[in-house]
Amino acid sequence: MILQETIDKIFETTNIEEVVGDFVDLKKAGVNYKGRCPFHEEKTPSFVVSPTKGIYKCFGCGKGGNSVTFVQEIQQSSYPEALKYIAQKYNIEIIEKEISADLEKRNSDKESQFIATKFACKYFEEMLWDTEEGQKIGLSYFKERGFSLEIIRKFQLGYSPKKQNSFKNIALAAGYDKKVLISSSLIGENDGGESYDKFRERAIFPIHAY
Ligand code: ZN
Repeated sequence: MILQETIDKIFETTNIEEVVGDFVDLKKAGVNYKGRCPFHEEKTPSFVVSPTKGIYKCFGCGKGGNSVTFVQEIQQSSYPEALKYIAQKYNIEIIEKEISADLEKRNSDKESQFIATKFACKYFEEMLWDTEEGQKIGLSYFKERGFSLEIIRKFQLGYSPKKQNSFKNIALAAGYDKKVLISSSLIGENDGGESYDKFRERAIFPIHAY
């Protein structure tokens, strides 16, 4: 495990415009930088990097975060891998601590849950926008509550279909571990060991950690 002091040093040293600038052509725009988003197709730049806040935000697809999440996202790497990548860029020595197998397992469980939740978020989003049921029930509900389409996209709101176990079946077919789906509270399990979708015919509001 990478020591917290090392992580702090990485965050202190990093200039987000330099990290992002290795992947995106950025132009100065006032106190910020602007470029074409690397996470979705676009002709006019709506991807903004703020050096003072140390964050990026795309006003097209809603993606946002800090230097480390940017590297994770663009390289499809884990949190420690992204930290190591940035440390190398700035010649920061990585100090690691041995951790118990138990803690290591807990960390990797957490990461698996994070990946499964992200998959679920995308699935519910697709169900909202790309199915008749989602548009008729979910989207019209959000509109009724006064959310603009832009806000619905930005916060990745979604819809879970009425059909029993539609998420579970897709997630299992995509190779997600049932245990991880249960520990992420995406599916439940009854006493008979039968698993089922936790969300059915529901509007979905994902919680974003940044
Ligand atoms: Zn974007």
